[in-house]
Amino acid sequence: MNCATHLNELSPDFSSRVLRDVPMAKYTSWHAGGPARLFFAPRNAADLAAFLRQLPAHIPLLWLGLGSNLLVRDGGFPGAVIHTHGALGLLERISATTINVEAGVPCARIARQCVRWSLGPAEFFAGIPGTLGGALAMNAGAWGGETWQHVAEVDVLDRLGARRTRQPAEYQVGYRSVVGPADEWFIGARLVFERRPDANNEAIRDLLDKRRQTQPIGEWSCGSVFANPSGNHAARLIETAGLKGFRIGDASVSLKHANFIINHGAASAADIEAVILHVQRTIEAMYHVVLQPEVRIVGVPA
Ligand SMILES: Cc1cc2nc3c(=O)[nH]c(=O)nc-3n(C[C@H](O)[C@H](O)[C@H](O)COP(=O)(O)OP(=O)(O)OC[C@H]3O[C@@H](n4cnc5c(N)ncnc54)[C@H](O)[C@@H]3O)c2cc1C
Repeated sequence: MNCATHLNELSPDFSSRVLRDVPMAKYTSWHAGGPARLFFAPRNAADLAAFLRQLPAHIPLLWLGLGSNLLVRDGGFPGAVIHTHGALGLLERISATTINVEAGVPCARIARQCVRWSLGPAEFFAGIPGTLGGALAMNAGAWGGETWQHVAEVDVLDRLGARRTRQPAEYQVGYRSVVGPADEWFIGARLVFERRPDANNEAIRDLLDKRRQTQPIGEWSCGSVFANPSGNHAARLIETAGLKGFRIGDASVSLKHANFIINHGAASAADIEAVILHVQRTIEAMYHVVLQPEVRIVGVPA
């Protein structure tokens, strides 16, 4: 399937607004990866629903937040990427303890705004460099807090653009894992917190400072690559296996935090994936533990 075929299949309302062959390296925190054949930045949720209604069913779909947990292979994504950040940006308080957040809102903004509203504990959101949509998809968490601990209900769109509100009970939520109805994506959520008159930005700064001491913040990464296996820490296993600094091309296991893989500037997605595979194979051979990637790997090889 080539790009022209896809574009010709879109309704005229959208074909002029859809970009083609957009390098995903520009939209992922690893700064690596091939092009999205089609790339759509909706104006709002209704516009996105209309786009989905006319999108032919055979065109693969990838929702993108801030790309902080995503590896797109070098051959790119052979379908349509939906860019929520910058579009679904509503963040409002709707009761004493409940906020309404659209999926494109960065988690750090939720953390800061909750401090202003004297709500918490929401400080953990400051440690997640993604959007609410990505955090809902991953059950992202930090410092003991997790996204779904605060979800009262979510709004979703399905592949045909139909909008629904769903309850947490309709999802199986676990550590960095959320399983719900197939072919649906998050456009927003109501999140519930407690009243915290003493909530303050200093607490956020302290947590971020602590993190900077242990993690290679500022380098190109996707955060922790592997989920922690039950009863163990992926970073500890990788470090004791002697894999810190292991390098392929311009990608290597961080010297500072063994569960981070760094792109030093010119790594391809294939370099990064090869490091991931080498770490997995080594840990399985040495400790009989199969590390599961927490990052999402999509697309086709070059
Ligand atoms: C330096 C660094 C530190 C990090 N620290 C943490 C941490 O402490 N804890 C943690 O949990 N994570 C951490 N991460 C990983 C990452 O920030 C989270 O997983 C985050 O939730 C991803 O959000 P995103 O918007 O960037 O999602 P993306 O990377 O854009 O997408 C991730 C996945 O979610 C899907 N998705 C995105 N938006 C939607 C949507 N609206 N509806 C349905 N699916 C969607 C995508 O299709 C993809 O499968 C870190 C990353 C970095 C770079």
